[in-house]
Amino acid sequence: MEKVDILGVKFDNVTMDEAIMEVLRLLKNNETDMVVTPNPEIVQLCVDDPAVMDVINSASLTVADGIGVIYAARMLGTPLKEKVPGFDLASNLLRYIETGEYRLFLLGAAPGVAEKAAENIKAKYPRIDICGTNDGYFSDEERIVNKINECEADICFVCLGAPKQEIFIKRHIKDTCAKVMIGLGGSMDVFAGNVKRAPAWMTRMGLEWLYRLLSNPKRMGRMMKIPVFLSNVKKEQKKRSLEKVG
Ligand code: UDP
Repeated sequence: MEKVDILGVKFDNVTMDEAIMEVLRLLKNNETDMVVTPNPEIVQLCVDDPAVMDVINSASLTVADGIGVIYAARMLGTPLKEKVPGFDLASNLLRYIETGEYRLFLLGAAPGVAEKAAENIKAKYPRIDICGTNDGYFSDEERIVNKINECEADICFVCLGAPKQEIFIKRHIKDTCAKVMIGLGGSMDVFAGNVKRAPAWMTRMGLEWLYRLLSNPKRMGRMMKIPVFLSNVKKEQKKRSLEKVG
């Protein structure tokens, strides 16, 4: 698949439909594959920490969560086809895995949230096989991996926030039977109905980040990575245009 490099993070240039098809293909593989959904904050985290960059770039599929990545790709002259938000990718996948062919494990968020998310998902997709759930506040990682394996999960939604979820997936990629593990940040809270998504008009205007900030001002500190990300993209844009001229 064609890759687009944004400050060192290698994104797959895919539409939402292509991303879904790719996950379904990975589910048929025998190995465990990691799917990641970086937003500008996570890209900047990778720039700041090469170890996190390596983990993110070891994923089998990397999609652009958020309009900021789409703008950056355009500014760098290597546009990405479409934004593929993690929550939307996961929601769309549910329709395809409802056949009962695949078992889904929900991992992450505060105690009780994954169970509530499972209830809501079941209400919408009654035939879905949710084989297990666990909150995201655990210290014994082996216990979690065993739990995923005992219920023979095929696909695991891992919602521990970035980069904790990607590091967890990478560390256990060889010991889990799940075919696909997707890092999905705060999506469990959205599936559970505890956090609302931005209204459609805000999403259309590329203001989802502002909605998230207004509904949770504690995000302010983390969001300071966004202007740093933008300034780095500007620098990279300049560098690339100088290279072209030279
Ligand atoms: N979380 C978790 N375990 C941890 C830290 C965080 O399960 O040790 C959960 C947290 O409860 C929340 C999610 O990870 O549900 C992170 O959400 P956030 O909106 O910060 O993630 P983002 O989508 O921005 O990466």
